[in-house]
Amino acid sequence: MFGEYNAIEKKILSGERLGREDGVRLFNSGALTWLGALADHVRREKCGELVYYNVNCHVNLTNMCVSRCKFCAFGRDADARGAYAMTIEQAIATVEDAMRDPNMSGLHVVSGLHPTWAFEDYLSIVRALHDRFPTLYIKGFTGVELTHFAKISGRSLEEILIELKAAGLQAIAGGGAEILTDRVRNELCPKKATADEWLNAARVAHRLGIKSNASMLYGHIETIEERVEHLIRLRELQDETHGFQTFICFPFLPKNTALEREIKQTSMWDDLRTMAVSRLMLDNFDHIKAYWVMLTVPVAQVALSFGANDIDGTVHKETILHDAGATSPTALTEDEIINVIREAGRVPAACDCNYKVLRLL
Ligand code: SF4
Repeated sequence: MFGEYNAIEKKILSGERLGREDGVRLFNSGALTWLGALADHVRREKCGELVYYNVNCHVNLTNMCVSRCKFCAFGRDADARGAYAMTIEQAIATVEDAMRDPNMSGLHVVSGLHPTWAFEDYLSIVRALHDRFPTLYIKGFTGVELTHFAKISGRSLEEILIELKAAGLQAIAGGGAEILTDRVRNELCPKKATADEWLNAARVAHRLGIKSNASMLYGHIETIEERVEHLIRLRELQDETHGFQTFICFPFLPKNTALEREIKQTSMWDDLRTMAVSRLMLDNFDHIKAYWVMLTVPVAQVALSFGANDIDGTVHKETILHDAGATSPTALTEDEIINVIREAGRVPAACDCNYKVLRLL
């Protein structure tokens, strides 16, 4: 047993790639502080002491969604209580409110799969936001949304992405990956993009020079082997395209979802081991994000010592995860983020959606 772990540690310290069985063993090791020390070592060697963050605003254009994934507390039917769909004016007003922060630098735009909107409806909002706020970067739309746009418009992913890019989109969001296995997706979200479709949307974006993020939603029905399978599928695509910028671990929040009665929220222990193993398995990803909205601020801060070098952003006003019972604040000020990073002994770096450093503090 110890010999196996010694061998894995040697591989990590010599920069050798970990295999599938190594990943499963790391998840099952039980040695949390050892995992954290290894992930922290790799993070330091690869990325140094900077911790990246955005001063950003989330814009969720609609919560109406035809997919109705079992793990989601945000999407709802068009006639359900609380269902909404923003007009262009409402989207602009949301951002105008966020622009009271003089350092506001970008938008994160993700939404439900609206039952009647055409691709042009999403496209025209992106264009309007870009025209009205030309200095803000726009990161938006997941592989799930892009696949949906291609299906409802009858156009190719290339055409969809070229039009979005021309309208002002600069990077693709990382959500919707969940767990990239058919078993999990058939059980939890059979109506949306398959694992192959999600990966292909990223592949096409990367080929067009548009960077994207990747994520993993864990802590529901997946096995440890499926978590490792997910990480390996992302690593393989990254070998092929080098187009992923960051990987984000999303712990499943069960409140107000169809799984609320069956599944408990993950522990901090699981959150930290998943962060560390992700850093160790994803040897070709530069950035690993501790998304404070889902992890909570204290856990995200500790995660900075478990392989993370990014703590997301100010967010302005998060709604998707607060519908699922997130107990974190709906926004942080830039000063609060800076303090969290500095207290962890690291250097805050405000950046845009493509990791260009805007301010070093
Ligand atoms: S996760 Fe996305 S696609 Fe699934 S129901 Fe929620 S908003 Fe819709």
